Amino acid sequence: MLKAENITVRYDGNTVLDNVSFILPKGSWLMVAGPNGAGKSTLARALAQGVPYSGKVIYDGVDIASLKPAQLARKLGMLEQSNHLGYSFTVSEIVRLGRYAYRSSPFSKADSDDESLIEKALEYTGLTQLAERSVLTLSGGELQRVFLAQLFAQDPEILILDEPTNHLDLVYQKGVLDLVRQWVKGTGRSVISVVHDLSLARAYGDKALLLSQGKAVAEGAPCEVFCDENLNAVYGMDVRGFLTSLLDQWK
Ligand code: ADP
Ligand code: MG
Repeated sequence: MLKAENITVRYDGNTVLDNVSFILPKGSWLMVAGPNGAGKSTLARALAQGVPYSGKVIYDGVDIASLKPAQLARKLGMLEQSNHLGYSFTVSEIVRLGRYAYRSSPFSKADSDDESLIEKALEYTGLTQLAERSVLTLSGGELQRVFLAQLFAQDPEILILDEPTNHLDLVYQKGVLDLVRQWVKGTGRSVISVVHDLSLARAYGDKALLLSQGKAVAEGAPCEVFCDENLNAVYGMDVRGFLTSLLDQWK
């Protein structure tokens, strides 16, 4: 079980995340939603130990903040909202970096477990054919899949994904979401993802957290958290009316 207790983040004296708490059982997927600037990415980064915060992140009774970097990388992996690369690594080199936390020494060679996880990660994300390409030549969606593959190769117990389907076409959106769902259910691991698409959040989430102006407006079952009252208050519009009108076009 993952427990976030009173997570608070301040930038230059401004509170951008204010006492956010939630509980996530193993084998479940938490969807974090809310308007631009609500603090979703900040929460994701705080959980992943990427920004200073007050409060506690407890996993299996252990305070995540007490872990050494290699231990942390086995417990938790994060996909950032946007990734940039300045060097001409190949796709498979970037994916391989996901395995470093498992080496006995930084100079030891990859073993067969590493190789099979790297191959599987490339295959799952549809990158096998691109394995030897320079990442500098990839499209946004292809690059997004490279970082996802790196995370799958890292194989942490908790995945934190900040808008994972951002640059992906519909085929890969569905592919990635199904893959993550399979990964959660098959292994009893946990996922926290930031999403804008509330239909996807309802379809794939076991739990939901709605943020607005740094505060948790609601936490719990997606169908309860994403009720008209909460959504209309947070987004300031008739969310259900808008989403159903979009869908009606397809009837
Ligand atoms: P979201 O991901 O929900 O769109 P963010 O977590 O990125 O929102 O940002 C929440 C708020 O914190 C925003 O008002 C943003 O401008 C501010 N913020 C984010 N990162 C920083 C930073 N490094 N320094 C100062 N303010 C920041
Ligand atoms: Mg964000």
